[in-house]
Amino acid sequence: MKIHNFSAGPSILPKEVMHDASKAVKELGQSGLSLIEISHRSKDFISIMDEACKRALELTNLENKGYKALFLQGGASQQFIMSAYNLLENKAGFINTGTWSSKAIKEAKLIGEVLEIASSKDSNFNYIPKGYNTPADLDYLHITTNNTIFGTQFKEIPETDVSLVADMSSDIFSRNFDYSRFDLFYAGAQKNMGPAGATLVIVKEDILGKVTRTIPSILDYSVHLKSGSMFNTPPVFSVYTSLLTLRWIEKQGGIKTIGDKNILKANYLYNEIDRNSLFTGFAEKNDRSEMNATFNLVEESLTETFDNLCLSVGISGLKGHRSVGGYRASIYNALPFESVEILVECMKSLEQNN
Ligand SMILES: *Cc1c(COP(=O)(O)O)cnc(C)c1O
Repeated sequence: MKIHNFSAGPSILPKEVMHDASKAVKELGQSGLSLIEISHRSKDFISIMDEACKRALELTNLENKGYKALFLQGGASQQFIMSAYNLLENKAGFINTGTWSSKAIKEAKLIGEVLEIASSKDSNFNYIPKGYNTPADLDYLHITTNNTIFGTQFKEIPETDVSLVADMSSDIFSRNFDYSRFDLFYAGAQKNMGPAGATLVIVKEDILGKVTRTIPSILDYSVHLKSGSMFNTPPVFSVYTSLLTLRWIEKQGGIKTIGDKNILKANYLYNEIDRNSLFTGFAEKNDRSEMNATFNLVEESLTETFDNLCLSVGISGLKGHRSVGGYRASIYNALPFESVEILVECMKSLEQNN
């Protein structure tokens, strides 16, 4: 049976990416060697790393604008402390939109003064705060562009004069927006890009080198930049597979085309959530995520029936995060429209029979 993979992360990757990645594990090109048994300093791997960085900048339209791309280890979670280590001298501001922002705040507090500029904690993070002012004396303002767990997403990039830093783990390369509004953004590979292990960081070079503290080498962006993401051994499989996805995005027509498709998928699903009397959406309508749709059954007694229905058509990974309950359909770039149609059919059929 075909499986429809709605997992929040690690999550679905394009079929051809999976195919080419597994081929490279057997043999990289005509080298006679596996991707995972060659030196990361070999010509073959250096060209993989260079192309991955170049494509990441091209797709976000940041080439020749003073930005550099890095593929690091440690996940987005390491970026919580690393971004603060490198950028926080006096005071940083955060918009708290859920679990991941809260974790980023906790880490930054180890480094310096942190202001929570706005928060949606008062209603279990089901909306994106608006109408706040950002003090002009912040070193930077940090946001989480898409809230994977709660299913909310910034539709507008906050208007501010201070440097913007973003965790884009679950919506990078998913929509067409002005990436140059950010001075630094990062994303773990495992949501929209590749297998877990690599973290993409894109940073405007001239914001670095301004803090007075000594930064441990492994946490210093400048050190990683100088060594072309090879200060230590990079996660070669994850970097290569991410590169395959970046090529795939380009082949689809780039971020604009992908973004249009994502909007169609999300609208199709949200329309059903709103129309179907048995379901209710979790997030406020204007702030709904195009990547993670969170919803609940109105009557919990139908849970088993709906779960079995989903199981019978091959729907996988739909269970909501424990802090929200209900369901979460992660509809990342690689998820085909057809999978959303199958889910919507299930929801309709539940309504017809109950
Ligand atoms: C998944 C996720 C993280 C955590 O990523 P790790 O790579 O596991 O550290 C952080 N932020 C967001 C928005 C996420 O979706």
